[in-house]
Amino acid sequence: MKIKCIRTHHLRDHLEVPFGFSQWFYDTRNTLWVEIVAEDGTTGWGECYGPAEVYQAAITSFYAPRLLGKDALATDVLWHLMWRASLDFARGGVMMGAMSGIDMALWDLRGKVLGQSVSELMGGRYIDEVPCYATGMYFKEMPESDLIASIVDEAAGYQQQGFTALKIKVGKNLSFDIRQVEAMRKALPNMTMMADSNHAYDLPEAIQIGHVLSEHDFGWFEEPLSPEFENQFRQLQDKVDIPIATGECEQTRYGFQRLLSTGGVQIAQPDLAYCGGPSEALKIRNVASSMGINVVPHCWGTMLNLAAATHFLASGYREPGRKEVAPPLLEYDRTPNALRDQLFEVPVVVKDGIAQVPTGPGLGVTVNKAAMKSFEIRETEVKDPIHVGLAPAGYVASVASH
Ligand SMILES: [Mg+2]
Repeated sequence: MKIKCIRTHHLRDHLEVPFGFSQWFYDTRNTLWVEIVAEDGTTGWGECYGPAEVYQAAITSFYAPRLLGKDALATDVLWHLMWRASLDFARGGVMMGAMSGIDMALWDLRGKVLGQSVSELMGGRYIDEVPCYATGMYFKEMPESDLIASIVDEAAGYQQQGFTALKIKVGKNLSFDIRQVEAMRKALPNMTMMADSNHAYDLPEAIQIGHVLSEHDFGWFEEPLSPEFENQFRQLQDKVDIPIATGECEQTRYGFQRLLSTGGVQIAQPDLAYCGGPSEALKIRNVASSMGINVVPHCWGTMLNLAAATHFLASGYREPGRKEVAPPLLEYDRTPNALRDQLFEVPVVVKDGIAQVPTGPGLGVTVNKAAMKSFEIRETEVKDPIHVGLAPAGYVASVASH
């Protein structure tokens, strides 16, 4: 089953109300989807997490020409073909992010050809439902006292929808962060809560906030420190009584082996649309498992990445094994995103805060191609024989043959 054609779709949607976190504010949502077509017409879809324009160029110009005509079902072979092709100048970063979207599309395609879901391809499902935690509570442009009230209101709304777990943003400034944590716990005493600074703190600040989070019974402290300072994670973990979670900026089994070997991380968080794709996420899980560490993927984007993360969690053995094992938590982004909410005929179904693991072949979600045309879109297509088409932003692109 050969690869006949690789398309990319860069979709963009402007947000009416920007939202922010410790690093910047978003005013648009972007995604880069990869569509791979096999010679029998079966298509697989994947998603990249990160800069869509750069991914589009990397896939269209570099990886796609190398994959045309290759066996579409040989996911591991193709991963290492791509890895070796870019290893000398890109052991990670956006090239690995581009590979991730391609790899996810190949897993979707393989499942469709073989009539199996991605979780079945990954070895089978331990669970058919995955409890979610709501990711939201981002910052808005308003006075801090109003912002805390707004965040608490948003969180109460998730509780009313049936969520029993959620994650807030910290890292704005220490005073705000402490007041926010206190207000959240006071308003929602029984909610499972996590906090994410997106690497906003230095070590002394992270120790201070870590104590506040543990006093208020938070479940994990996510990205407390810069990913560049791996050894500080162990120093932090030795001083605070809350699990440290990180890894959304990390990639590959090699990167996670170095990060987790510090002994300062209790929860590994690769993103399947960035870490190297489902193929590499399985290897990362093996590395983590060998150290007794569980993997809870970072998940930000559309239904493609959400489906991939759901299958990955459903197929994951929880360390350490026991009869009454605690279920994993799926990150369920609740920030505004029409690209996630309006472009899928078959989405991941989440009800009362619990995701149903898709049972259809491949990722088990279906893109609504007609609906894509109502968004700003820039598309490319590479097919055999190789021809690359690029259309200006704002137009549905053409492409072609020769
Ligand atoms: Mg995060």
